[in-house]
Amino acid sequence: MGDTQTLRLYNTLTRTKEVFTPIDPQNVRMYVCGPTVYDYAHIGNARPVIVFDLLFRLLRHLYGESHVTYARNITDVDDKINARAVRDFPGLELNEAIRRVTETTANQYQKDTKALGALEPTYQPRATDNIPQMQSLITSLIGSQHAYEAAGEVLFAVDSMPDYGKLSGRNLEDNVAGARIAVEAHKRNPADFVLWKQSNDSEPGWPSPWGRGRPGWHIECSAMSERYLGQVFDIHAGGLDLIFPHHENEIAQSRCAHGTHTMANYWLHNGFLQVEGQKMSKSLGNFITIHDLLETDKFGGRKWPGEVLRLAMLMTHYRQPIDFTVSRLEQAEALLDKWYRSVDDEPATSPYRLIVEELCDDLNVGNASAIFSVLGSQLAENNLTATGYGNEALPARGVFRATANLMGLLQLSLEEWGRQRHGVHEVEDEKIERAISARLTALNTRDFATADAIRTELLTQGVQLMDYKDEDGQRATKWEMKR
Ligand code: AMP
Ligand code: ZN
Repeated sequence: MGDTQTLRLYNTLTRTKEVFTPIDPQNVRMYVCGPTVYDYAHIGNARPVIVFDLLFRLLRHLYGESHVTYARNITDVDDKINARAVRDFPGLELNEAIRRVTETTANQYQKDTKALGALEPTYQPRATDNIPQMQSLITSLIGSQHAYEAAGEVLFAVDSMPDYGKLSGRNLEDNVAGARIAVEAHKRNPADFVLWKQSNDSEPGWPSPWGRGRPGWHIECSAMSERYLGQVFDIHAGGLDLIFPHHENEIAQSRCAHGTHTMANYWLHNGFLQVEGQKMSKSLGNFITIHDLLETDKFGGRKWPGEVLRLAMLMTHYRQPIDFTVSRLEQAEALLDKWYRSVDDEPATSPYRLIVEELCDDLNVGNASAIFSVLGSQLAENNLTATGYGNEALPARGVFRATANLMGLLQLSLEEWGRQRHGVHEVEDEKIERAISARLTALNTRDFATADAIRTELLTQGVQLMDYKDEDGQRATKWEMKR
């Protein structure tokens, strides 16, 4: 790898931009704190998804696709979830109600992140599948005097860790002086935080040496990151609201349980997102979910494609605040439209060198997109070669396409794009699928006249059918838009 590919990342732990050196280049490991699944993800939650997907893609480009492991957890045990379950499913038994809430929300999250063009992380562990791992961490923390039991809780003793507070730059005096932590008599230090708490009969719980109970939030990530990435790994990321207390406490738990100097070497935090100049909140009426943007006309009076949301997010550097507005979305859409006109089916070759260099500079997406735009314009003027990696001249469209893949832009196939944006064919996928299944029924009942009529009708709308046999040898049909 040449010098030009040196990746630099801003590390919250040292407050400097550092050269990224993985512990093991054969297995670069990244953990991102995922959602608490009690409600649909809002557009602020989309930011870490998109930003760290870009980093995941860049790491895969630099180290090889099979040499990067990305874990993003799903927090499916949390008091907010319990409250939602009781509110939404009053008639159901609590565990069943909780299962409904977490299942619906987690499924929606998968749909949302897919629509945003994010690759699936290597692992998406759920807290409820990792309770024994959490309990074993807690046991070792108690054994080494870093935790104690009091009033039905197991608490982490912050005084047992001399450099507690290093990530956030807080010291314990600040915490007490800030007086935001209620003084609770059972705590040795008011900053001590919960690892385990007992549950009453109307709360979810698991048997444990400390009574039937449930884990605190922070211990979930310590347990899941260890299980999937090891005791010390490369990158730990999330929004900047997580620096304190969540990440600080994860570090305390993991380091004290394992006797390590660090939990992760690089700590990355995305900036916050506001909507139309204001903090997003339900009371202000500007609380907007990813699903709202994709599927309803609540924002700007129309639906927005996932890739437009993605680009609108990436137009600002990930550590800067974002003001999310309709005009930002319109701008992103116009840019995408322009880029689509530059690309065609040229196979992807190798991404544009200058863009990779910009991304390697702490994900400088602003410069990268500017260069991408220039490359797009040159393409539109029929420039036939561009410089990919190793300075070799490559077919420009292939370089453009490879670069788009690297950035996760231009998700749609060109046919789909043509249909959606140019209104060439006003046929909806669902209608096509329905017609195809009617035709398959006709074929299976040997009603060839009907089957042929459906095929002809679709063809007049520009939809070309292709029959094939699926894995089970059953007749099946694919379709594409005829150009
Ligand atoms: P939560 O489910 O609240 O823990 O949030 C999931 C992720 O979204 C975390 O990484 C948060 O830091 C991040 N996040 C929440 N709100 C915002 C926001 N308004 N802007 C950017 N990131 C956010
Ligand atoms: Zn976490």
